[in-house]
Amino acid sequence: MMDLNWMIEKSGLKNLHERIQDGQRLQLEEALDLYKTPDLNVLGAMANLANQKKNGKRASYILNRYINYSNYCILSCQFCSFSRKKRDSDGFELSLEQMQSKAREALTLGITELHIVGGLHPSLPFSYYTDMLKGLKEVDNSLQLKCFTAVEILHLAWLSRQSVEDTLRSLKDCGLDSLTGGGAEIFQPEVRKVIATGKESAAEYLDVHRCWHKLGGRSTCTMLYGHVESMKDRLDHLRQLRELQDETGGFCGFVALPYQPENNVIPVKHPPTGNDMLRTIALARLFLDNVDHITAYWVGMGLKMAQVSLNYGADDLHGTIVEEHIFHMAGAGTPQGQTQAAMCKAIREAGREPFQRNTFYQDVSGDTKSNQGSPPALATDQPQ
Ligand code: SF4
Repeated sequence: MMDLNWMIEKSGLKNLHERIQDGQRLQLEEALDLYKTPDLNVLGAMANLANQKKNGKRASYILNRYINYSNYCILSCQFCSFSRKKRDSDGFELSLEQMQSKAREALTLGITELHIVGGLHPSLPFSYYTDMLKGLKEVDNSLQLKCFTAVEILHLAWLSRQSVEDTLRSLKDCGLDSLTGGGAEIFQPEVRKVIATGKESAAEYLDVHRCWHKLGGRSTCTMLYGHVESMKDRLDHLRQLRELQDETGGFCGFVALPYQPENNVIPVKHPPTGNDMLRTIALARLFLDNVDHITAYWVGMGLKMAQVSLNYGADDLHGTIVEEHIFHMAGAGTPQGQTQAAMCKAIREAGREPFQRNTFYQDVSGDTKSNQGSPPALATDQPQ
């Protein structure tokens, strides 16, 4: 601790460190100063202390499987390497039977969660999505279904001619347990125009999550960084997430997604480096003081870098995943999945104690399959 205090003093961050230790909230300008500090290890140590205050020595992982039901999409976000048009030869859409078969196969690996997203399909009816949820619950009712990004929910609302709230209610009734956090990208409108023209606005993204949280649902939130945005844009993005979290408390965790530069039209010569990834995780831990968990997304960072980030503010390594398309189609060189043993080993080597979590970041290490947890209740929960 002596060494750390000396390092913090030497880096000029002593006052800020003391304020954070006193539980005071980081302001935007202060966070910008921290982002720019040349002393990454001091920043990491400050974030590590903040994390240990919240989560102790433990770090989590989840046994999950990704399913992309289709990559056909009516939008053409510039950064996206995943979407296809009907004329493309490598487009796909899965039948319910195909998804059920993937779910059954993954259940043999002990998964507790299916994480399901797709493009905005041009012609599938709303019943495809409700049947998907019901059909996957029929495979195993205890499987937690974490599905759809905010823009998919807006698409489904349009498709079903319902309000966002009624759409979410319908999906919840069919088995939706959690929304995914994907699609937040960077909220700043000018950046959004460059990377994802036509996608929902920041306000729409936040409204979908707000509405879901007010129905008693929980979700994660994300930030796609390392493309054309500035540090200020990143912090403004985190500020908006922090404000919604103040209002609803419904985000279980934050996932920082490092941009993958291949097979799309955005000319990014310098995608996120290891330094940037660690710096961003640390900043997120310090800035998002009201979000309990920071996930290091190994698919984008690589497991080795995700492991290191467990000492820079992260407390979760995400999941086993099994089959990932979105980041790999954009050039990610990581494997398609991880084993439980590999994740536990990575966590232990980082000096943390591993535990298996569910969709809501609750410990399910010792649980039976029929007791995999429900969303934690919050004072802000509205009557159903
Ligand atoms: Fe479609 Fe999502 Fe890709 Fe945008 S990011 S083109 S909405 S699949």
